[in-house]
Amino acid sequence: MAEDTSSTTSNLPGPESGPLGGPQQGPRDVMRQRQNPDLLIPPRTDSGTMPNLRFSFADSHVRLQPGGWTNEVTQRELPIATEISGVQMHLNGGDTMTGVRELHWHKEAEWAYMLSGTARITAVDPFGGSFVDDVKAGDLWFFPAGVPHSIQAHREGCEFLLTFDDGAFSENGTLLLSDFMRHVPPEVLAKNFGQTESAFANIPQEDLYIFWAPPPPPLQEALVPNTDPNVQPPQYSFHLSQVDYVECPGGRVKIIDSRRFGVTTISCAVVEADPGAMRELHWHPNADEWQYYLEGSARMTVFDSSSLARTFDYQAGDVGYVPKVLGHYVENTGDGPMRFLALFRHPLYQDVSLSQWLALTPPGLVKAHLSVSNEVIASFSKTKQSVVGGTKP
Ligand code: MN
Ligand code: MN
Repeated sequence: MAEDTSSTTSNLPGPESGPLGGPQQGPRDVMRQRQNPDLLIPPRTDSGTMPNLRFSFADSHVRLQPGGWTNEVTQRELPIATEISGVQMHLNGGDTMTGVRELHWHKEAEWAYMLSGTARITAVDPFGGSFVDDVKAGDLWFFPAGVPHSIQAHREGCEFLLTFDDGAFSENGTLLLSDFMRHVPPEVLAKNFGQTESAFANIPQEDLYIFWAPPPPPLQEALVPNTDPNVQPPQYSFHLSQVDYVECPGGRVKIIDSRRFGVTTISCAVVEADPGAMRELHWHPNADEWQYYLEGSARMTVFDSSSLARTFDYQAGDVGYVPKVLGHYVENTGDGPMRFLALFRHPLYQDVSLSQWLALTPPGLVKAHLSVSNEVIASFSKTKQSVVGGTKP
């Protein structure tokens, strides 16, 4: 049933707060304003002009394919996001056919997180190592730049987030097996494989990209070991779904970087905040932060030098961005859990906690800056709390 937009409009406050602002009499997109309460009526602490730090996958063009779909948020959509771009992809399930992301490669490294279902992933490394594995919701994989790979849904289908270590990457610009094969003269193909030209008479004459194929066989049957005993198979998957969260006062976190997953050059924090809780005030010294909201709703203020601060609102399916070293928090504004991925184009995860910094600085110096009591300074935690406040469900 259609919403009564006139009454909805009158129920939503205008851009006014106390003596500031005023009613809005012109056209309003009330649904979007409801999603952005901290843009409509910014906190009094916001100041100055900051770049846009939010883009929703809901505002992104979807590429529909036989067997699945995909859309992306890159530097074109979110200009500040120079270090990482992101792609959502769905591969359909089915009993006799499932969706395949065609064998391909690209110049960017690929870090992926399974959102739902199960998938079969394959790759071959430059040393002749063959990799085949199954991943499920909460697992991740990493394919280094140039390593050819594929993804296929199992019978229940799958959906996943792909991220790339260049904000300008486009999922529509990858190097495809079918594209390569049909742009080599037939006699050269024949010579390369020691075959006749007729052997390749039926190669596809257009991109497959995402297409239907018979479902993957059981994993043990799919393995293609290199018979050279000197070749070690690479490990491109990490079964993060099997790893427990580290509990925090207001939620829980998982950190996964090259210390646990040797191959990766992108580090990640999975952060969950209970209702009312927040990822504590902090910043990252070594990389920009690219966020993907998995569940719930949140707000984040980002602080830069010279009195710059702006607050953005996020919900599941949104991308957030925080340039390197800028101060921020992420607060759960909903009634249920709020969960997001924070990704960094750096092999090592690093953050600086505001409260830990102050706890480990001589107290007299902190007091001279902030004019807070000795008791308050003594209460600052010398260990990182990561997620604070709120009420445990
Ligand atoms: Mn890829
Ligand atoms: Mn952060």
